[in-house]
Amino acid sequence: MASRTPLIDSFGRHVDTVRVSVTDRCNLRCTYCMSEQMTFLPRAELLTLEELDRVCAAFVRRGVRHLRLTGGEPLMRRGIMDLVNSLSRHLREGTLDELTMTTNGVRLREFAGALAAAGMRRINVSLDSLDRTTFARIARSDCLDQVLDGIAAAREAGLKVKINTVALKRDNHADLPDLIQWAHERGMDITLIETMPMGAVDEDRTDQFISLTEVRQELQSFWTLTDLDERSSGPARYVRIAETGGRLGFITPLTHNFCESCRRVRLTCTGTLFMCLGQDSAVDLRTALRGDNGGDAALDAALDEAMQRKPKAHDFLLPVPGAAPAVSRHMSMTGG
Ligand code: SAM
Ligand code: SF4
Repeated sequence: MASRTPLIDSFGRHVDTVRVSVTDRCNLRCTYCMSEQMTFLPRAELLTLEELDRVCAAFVRRGVRHLRLTGGEPLMRRGIMDLVNSLSRHLREGTLDELTMTTNGVRLREFAGALAAAGMRRINVSLDSLDRTTFARIARSDCLDQVLDGIAAAREAGLKVKINTVALKRDNHADLPDLIQWAHERGMDITLIETMPMGAVDEDRTDQFISLTEVRQELQSFWTLTDLDERSSGPARYVRIAETGGRLGFITPLTHNFCESCRRVRLTCTGTLFMCLGQDSAVDLRTALRGDNGGDAALDAALDEAMQRKPKAHDFLLPVPGAAPAVSRHMSMTGG
């Protein structure tokens, strides 16, 4: 009999949120995320769409209420809508509260209607600059217009859009107030993210690192920020900006420890389950999936093991110039 036991780790945290990376491939090459000549995984190593569907169903059966598809770029995975449409059955059955996605938005115009029709209600779109040249420098691709059009298409389709922006000292630091204002004028929340030392990239991330404590102080010199109690299922802490009327989130893995309330695990596109973004401990679900002979016993045993091994906290350190990344895998493996 497949297990229905909730996923509770050894520190009593109830895991109800899973990020699933459906591909490590991407149509952009953001400088903080990937190197320009990125080597991608052989396709044979990826979980098939059927395996992704099965593992997500196992999570839902064990009490997971929030599923987020990410990558790499999820809209680059062939057959992504087959997966989304299949997963939407859990929404209809009431066993899942939300199915969401984090995307770079480049192909959103093509997919927005279908995502909304499948029952997706909100998505996160990454956008680091409204300036075409700056965007192209960060993403190594001149795609700003497509992303903005993708955001418009998502909103037209009725999806609630939240903007994610990585704060970069040299590239977009000065533009952050404009970006925040732009998002709020359109009724969108926006979350700022500190660069995390994940995977080798071509540049030294330390000279792009800017603490969000510093950014917050700057914003407070001309705006009124009020802390909000509300938390999403993600790690952001939110403030309301009186002057714009909008919500601004801060994700500060390096300067603020949010681990005590962490209810998330992350699945890579090869089926490795990471219990913490900033730690290497992992459980191999692909072997369990492929060895199960039609049942889910090995998969359930692997999930139980994962709960025993979820670490108490990550151990990212503040950046040291020239140091190797804190974890060797790229964010595109584990998903953001
Ligand atoms: N391609 C999609 C996108 O960009 O939204 C989904 C995957 S991407 C890895 C998810 C999020 O992780 C994005 O918001 C991206 O900006 C962020 N990200 C990637 N590498 C990061 C890093 N080293 N530090 C902080 N955030 C990072
Ligand atoms: Fe691609 Fe997203 Fe990484 Fe940018 S952040 S390279 S869009 S996976």
